Amino acid sequence: MKVYNFSAGPSTLPQEVLLEAQKDFVDYQGTGMSVTEMSHRSKAYDAIHLEAIALLKKLMNINDDYDILFVQGGASTQFAAVPLNLLHTKADYMVTGNFAKKAYEEATRFGDINVCGSSEDKNFTYIPEGKAVNIRKDTDYVHITQNNTIFGTRFIDLPDTLAPIVADMSSNILSEVFDVNKYGLIYAGAQKNIAPAGVTIVIVKKDLINSPQAICPTMLMYKTQAKANSLYNTPPCFSIYMAMLVFRWLEKLGGVKEIQKINEYKSKILYDFIDNSDIFQNPVENKFRSIMNVVFRTNNPDLDAKFVKEAAENGIVSIKGHKLVGGMRASIYNAMPVEGVEHLIKFMKKFEMENK
Ligand SMILES: *Cc1c(COP(=O)(O)O)cnc(C)c1O
Repeated sequence: MKVYNFSAGPSTLPQEVLLEAQKDFVDYQGTGMSVTEMSHRSKAYDAIHLEAIALLKKLMNINDDYDILFVQGGASTQFAAVPLNLLHTKADYMVTGNFAKKAYEEATRFGDINVCGSSEDKNFTYIPEGKAVNIRKDTDYVHITQNNTIFGTRFIDLPDTLAPIVADMSSNILSEVFDVNKYGLIYAGAQKNIAPAGVTIVIVKKDLINSPQAICPTMLMYKTQAKANSLYNTPPCFSIYMAMLVFRWLEKLGGVKEIQKINEYKSKILYDFIDNSDIFQNPVENKFRSIMNVVFRTNNPDLDAKFVKEAAENGIVSIKGHKLVGGMRASIYNAMPVEGVEHLIKFMKKFEMENK
């Protein structure tokens, strides 16, 4: 049975990319070996590595003031790597969800860290703005989680500050056009919008990485990775290869501008349906609704459980919400086709008819 996978991560990848990887899996382009077997110092791998970097640079319009790094350990390792590289006296964190909180807590191990805004008072259903954000003078950086995967919110405007903005974009990198020049650093685990788990993308302004803390492990030093073009040690070659294929797919589709239109359309039809439904609701303040993770629920946890079960029987899988929120969550990343969202809405309609 064909299924639509609404998992929050690892998540669905473009079918064409999977087929292409399958075709080349055993014998990559006549090399007689798989990408999973080849030396990371080989000519064939080097071409993959360089193309992946070049394509990301083009897709996100990244200029030469920034380094693009491919590292390991997931976004969670960046929760430590960021302060270890960028924190000199103090830094401020926006706590807008579970991952944001984890990033904040990890950073407190390394210096003077302050929460400059939080939406915990309303179970993370909005993004604090204006007077609700108090950034300290001379802070080294301001950390935000641009898209809150579990709670289904996203930043629309960046915090008002002259300090470098560090953004966790694990669940929305390449989903809409971002002006990279407004950020000091962007990081993202690959397994939501880019590739299988393994590689973590770091895009960092070159002038921020020259004075890591003395205790920063070599492997976490951005300047070490930058100098070695992310080949200081063995990189996650296969994940980077898959990222390259996904970047090619996105480029062919018309780039980020085009996928943004598709993502806006997918999320709009789903939110419109929820807003007009008699049994489903979404708790997020409209303006801050994520276009990647759409959370919804009925007013009855038993009915939610029934929905999740029957959805699976109808080819809609991994739609259960995170335990912190309950209900359902449809993660509709770049690779989720419009038909997948339409199929979900059709099923929701039918479920509503049968259960209201
Ligand atoms: C999934 C996710 C993480 C955790 O990523 P790992 O790669 O598993 O460490 C962190 N931040 C955000 C916003 C996420 O969506």
